[in-house]
Amino acid sequence: MDRRLLDELAHRCRGELLRDEPLWRHTSWQVGGPAAVLFRPANHVDLVKAVRLIDAAGCPRLVIGGGSNLLVRDGGFPGVVLELPDFNVVRIAGDGLVEAEAGVRLNSLIKQLVAAGLGGLEALAGIPGSVGGALVMNAGAGSQEFGRVVEAVEILSGETFAWRPAAELAFAYRHARLAPGDIVTAVRLRLVPGDPELLQAAYAERIGHRRQAHAVGGPSAGSVFKNPPGQKAWELIAGCGWQGRSIGGARVSERHANFIINAGGAMAADIEALIEAIRSDVERQTGVRLEAEVRIVGAPAATGPGCEGA
Ligand SMILES: Cc1cc2nc3c(=O)[nH]c(=O)nc-3n(C[C@H](O)[C@H](O)[C@H](O)COP(=O)(O)OP(=O)(O)OC[C@H]3O[C@@H](n4cnc5c(N)ncnc54)[C@H](O)[C@@H]3O)c2cc1C
Repeated sequence: MDRRLLDELAHRCRGELLRDEPLWRHTSWQVGGPAAVLFRPANHVDLVKAVRLIDAAGCPRLVIGGGSNLLVRDGGFPGVVLELPDFNVVRIAGDGLVEAEAGVRLNSLIKQLVAAGLGGLEALAGIPGSVGGALVMNAGAGSQEFGRVVEAVEILSGETFAWRPAAELAFAYRHARLAPGDIVTAVRLRLVPGDPELLQAAYAERIGHRRQAHAVGGPSAGSVFKNPPGQKAWELIAGCGWQGRSIGGARVSERHANFIINAGGAMAADIEALIEAIRSDVERQTGVRLEAEVRIVGAPAATGPGCEGA
């Protein structure tokens, strides 16, 4: 890591800076090598300052939320990983209008909405991760999707914050249109007033359901592949005989064929190899090419100088 960048980040930006931070601590799969630097800016001003310094140094950067849809390779991330835990404010106004900052845990937001008698996201109860991650992934469950209740999104693009209307993000199945490098800092949502007791019951039902559905035998990142149009990824994977099969410490869950679990001591390379093996075998057997829902980032083990010497 470029010494000057490190000094400037440490001295000119308020926040928490960690060097060589193991990213397995920040991902639900519990795998992944270190980030050269992990930085948690104190507020909007410090985030812009940090981004300016990082970009001027030509250093790669990556934002992570809860790391629940992320496979970080074993070589880690050779640049700066940004986390936004201090972007944690929820404002509930009248008329079902709510603003939530990107670092708020999705489930904490949903709990607050349900308590305030606001419906529209309760089917997503129990989905791990942050509001920023839910926006970027357009997280969904049943007939609800995060993007459907979004009115506008605050995005840091380059060095400028701007609120963009939801239409510009063209939400689709597990997709939101963002430019490379864009950082989501807050969302404005429009919820539907409802009976708090019914919302609470729906919330509790989803949490109960998820407790069972998520008992897949080990740490995971939820569904690995998107459902192809009109088909279920898990059915294709199970039909091709992958349930229970392993590479190293990575195993296709016996409970849910679209979940890969860290069955103990898995490396990111094991998980990635299993993803590729499933993809090519399902394509060979069925003609359907599965698209990954999880995002794969970072360097394979022992490669990549990152922004060293930049
Ligand atoms: C047990 C389990 C069950 C799950 N069930 C579901 C489910 O039912 N439905 C569903 O849709 N998903 C599900 N997921 C997947 C995951 O929880 C969601 O995709 C979640 O919304 C990801 O949020 P995150 O904060 O963890 O994002 P991360 O994994 O941290 O990041 C995901 C992507 O978003 C980017 N990103 C994150 N925050 C920002 C930001 N502020 N600005 C710009 N980019 C950002 C990251 O760079 C990365 O590319 C499940 C995962 C697990 C582990």
